[in-house]
Amino acid sequence: MTVPPFRNEPFTDFSDPGERRAFERALEKVRAAMGQRYPAVIGGELIYLDDVFPSVNPANPSEVIGYFPNGDADLAARAVEAAYEAFDFWKRVPYDVRARYLFKAAAIIRRRKHEFSAAMVLEVGKNWAEADADTAELIDALEYYGRQMLRYGPPQPLVPFPGREVEQRYIPLGVGAVISPWNFPAAIAGAMTAATLVTGNTAVFKPAEQAPYLGWLITEVFCEDLKLPPGVLNFVTGPGHIVGEAMVLHPKTRFIAFTGSKEVGIRIYENAAKVQPGQKWLKRAILEMGGKDAILVDETADLDAAAEGIVVSAFGFQGQKCSACSRAIIVEEVYDPLVERIVERTRQITVGPPEDPNNWMGPLIDQEAYDKVMTYIEIGHEEGRLILGGKPYQPNPTSGYFVEPTIFLDVDPHARIAQEEIFGPVLAVIRAKDFEEGLAIANATEYGLTGAVYSRDRLRLEKAREEFHVGNLYFNRKCTGALIGVEPFGGFNMSGTDSKAGGPDYLLLFLQAKVISEAL
Ligand code: NAD
Repeated sequence: MTVPPFRNEPFTDFSDPGERRAFERALEKVRAAMGQRYPAVIGGELIYLDDVFPSVNPANPSEVIGYFPNGDADLAARAVEAAYEAFDFWKRVPYDVRARYLFKAAAIIRRRKHEFSAAMVLEVGKNWAEADADTAELIDALEYYGRQMLRYGPPQPLVPFPGREVEQRYIPLGVGAVISPWNFPAAIAGAMTAATLVTGNTAVFKPAEQAPYLGWLITEVFCEDLKLPPGVLNFVTGPGHIVGEAMVLHPKTRFIAFTGSKEVGIRIYENAAKVQPGQKWLKRAILEMGGKDAILVDETADLDAAAEGIVVSAFGFQGQKCSACSRAIIVEEVYDPLVERIVERTRQITVGPPEDPNNWMGPLIDQEAYDKVMTYIEIGHEEGRLILGGKPYQPNPTSGYFVEPTIFLDVDPHARIAQEEIFGPVLAVIRAKDFEEGLAIANATEYGLTGAVYSRDRLRLEKAREEFHVGNLYFNRKCTGALIGVEPFGGFNMSGTDSKAGGPDYLLLFLQAKVISEAL
């Protein structure tokens, strides 16, 4: 198969009035379809349940995006059985045919790009640009993993040996439980699903309870538009601790592809390790978890660039990114002038329903997230000096889960707000004596996902290159926004199993190697 070289999907230029109008039309289209009931998809069958739960707009929770099946352990088990049955067929489908499904899915989603993004604005509260980047990342994942499969599909090179004909080929694992978070409901959910399918595995895909509609849109492309054979992709919704748990524990599940919180990741790790009656393998667990990411700034840095990078990384999508900057570590010499710039830049942030493109920050995802963030703000009052924000933000006339961008100064590196993932718009600013101390503070959490250094000192950057222990390290740029293929993504320590999603090694996690040696 001949395919053009991979190239990242460009972001939409919303200063173009034509693009703005097209996006408004997409919002109208999504809004017009709101409030419907959606099914689970198992073995190609659409299954509607009487027991449903709503997915709501976090900027205005009285608006229901759609109603989804409130699945249980039985529904999960049916889906795993269907996927298990379909595996026997799907594993024999040639790898280039499987790659073609991904290329075609990318083409369809590219045509419906604004619709996917508009759905994210309404279902999870992303602003236009953040939603557009999420959809672009999904398209990238489809294009990139399709190409990677073309690389892994043919026999792999081995050392020739006289008198033997040898071969190493990659074969799929079996049924994958794909369990995704709500914060990248297109990119992460779709990428883990695509990696599962293209490698010849079958999937039971369970999106997060807060973003089932995006999960449905992805499923619709594969199951309805592309007519993926029944059972290859199964879609179930419902509470994670019931449906997700049953998917992980099922003896016919072969591997788990999970992205989410540390707590749930650890639970899945334990559950996956228990060998169930009738289970014939050790389950593989690909677990991408949380972060407590830091940006370190020294006295040689461009302070304007550093302030911009910190603010965008801390408050972009309301701080609800695993890669968000939640700690700004600043050396003493430039602490005051940089804090002044950070505060000044944060004051310019507009908060409100993200449907309005003038609002840069939207709501938190739900009441639970709101309560958690407000609790950490209370803790922050004990642990630091509030300089900005700290209160709910209530733009009329909605009643969404809005919180002001919040900054605490002079936070102790061991304080709870400097150690625990808050997953909201709360920045802890920490003072360091010098670069060396700053680097030690940066490394002193249980996480290791992203980090950034702003400095003009080459030797310090080189030291950070060696010693800043994070999976994704950035110099003189923000610590969010990794691009597929360019900056493969995944963290160390309690941030997960370092899967490096969007990288050349990622598909190997979904494959096993078989070696065949024939005497001549
Ligand atoms: P979460 O852990 O609450 O939920 C993630 C998924 O797990 C959901 O689909 C949920 O239903 C399911 N789940 C819950 N309990 C389960 C159980 N017992 N067994 C199986 N599945 C279960 O996370 P979230 O709130 O959706 O997402 C936010 C978290 O994800 C943050 O911690 C963030 O840092 C992390 N995250 C990490 C990355 C990364 O690449 N490292 C990317 C995005 C988000």
